[in-house]
Amino acid sequence: MKGFRVRVSHKAAQFTESVIREMTRQAIQHNAVNLAQGFPDFSAPEAIKLAAQQAVGADINQYAITWGAQNFRRAIAAKFAAWQKIEIDPEREITVCCGSTEAMIATLLALVDPGDEVVVFEPFYENYGPDAILSGATPRYVTLHPPVDEDGEWSFYPAALRAAFNNKTRAIILNTPHNPTGKVFTRDELELIRDLCVEFDVLAITDEIYEHILYDGAEHISIATIEGMRERTVTINSLSKSYSVTGWRVGWAIAPPALTAAIRKVHDFLTVGAAAPLQAAGAAALELPNSYYVELAAKYSERRDLLLGALRTSGFKAFKPSGAYYIMTDISEFTFEDDRAFATRLVKEIGIATVPGSSFYSLPGGGAHQIRFAFCKQQQTLDRAIDNLQKLHSGQSR
Ligand code: PLP
Repeated sequence: MKGFRVRVSHKAAQFTESVIREMTRQAIQHNAVNLAQGFPDFSAPEAIKLAAQQAVGADINQYAITWGAQNFRRAIAAKFAAWQKIEIDPEREITVCCGSTEAMIATLLALVDPGDEVVVFEPFYENYGPDAILSGATPRYVTLHPPVDEDGEWSFYPAALRAAFNNKTRAIILNTPHNPTGKVFTRDELELIRDLCVEFDVLAITDEIYEHILYDGAEHISIATIEGMRERTVTINSLSKSYSVTGWRVGWAIAPPALTAAIRKVHDFLTVGAAAPLQAAGAAALELPNSYYVELAAKYSERRDLLLGALRTSGFKAFKPSGAYYIMTDISEFTFEDDRAFATRLVKEIGIATVPGSSFYSLPGGGAHQIRFAFCKQQQTLDRAIDNLQKLHSGQSR
């Protein structure tokens, strides 16, 4: 009998397994503090946990409407109107998905064709490259440069952004507040992006899942609110980060009706729908008072300052984020072969799992001097990590 010849698709062969999830596995294997993957290790708000229990108790156990339970979509529309002052129609402009991860790939599969180009800022959240490949598009990367001063902002050259646009460009993927740099895009930057989107007739697909995690007075602006963008923007968000429930897998895409109709079709055949009881709990989450978000940002601000100080004391050049819950660092002060070797040493010998910078860049050599730390952790986890950091200089290894 002939043996089975293993063959994988051309698409799947083009990208690797997630480095972030791999680092989490290594953290478990080496009993290291996990500052790699961006999941909180503290409890979600009691009110929303209770709402989830009640939803299961009330037998909300069957498929919800494929594009999302009506009360959840209404809550999403009400919150978007309250925070971003945009009125959307929950019946025709929202698709609830399994996390923003599914919302992003469903959007790309629905709106982008093979041969199209998609502009992505680099360093980027590691899903965007594979997402573009799976949709058949070619990613065009635009570099975000680190600030000279550790407290400064990451920035891009307007000429480089313009050079990435051409008549094949179909979309730009934006992420603000930005993972991994913590950059919060300013109104001026968003207007510059708008000008190019309008000139080249391009969609903006914007991932705003860190919208409430902001520091030092930074303001989150949804690009859909910028004049001329509403009709050409897909705004992606999720419960994961704002409510500390990354395992619930509930997110959504907001887009004008014609775009939503296509996203809904793809979503339906990808996953049918997100967990029905957790959509009911999601409606309760979106109704939390403003004070909840103020407290969330204040707590993250304390954690940021704690880890930032410790990293700088330990010899890292640590860039101060204005939003999200990561600190990107420059490791040039240390001796190492490359970022991966340094991250391996950190997890095995120092006891801290991080993400090597190269996983946020497209080309070999990108991010070779960078390491990302996540600080969405309780005080005691950060304290353990900070204790471990001292081993970097004491020569003491595990
Ligand atoms: N987008 C960004 C920028 C992220 O950092 C993450 C998770 O870390 C995700 C999306 C995944 O979000 P979700 O849990 O909603 O799929």
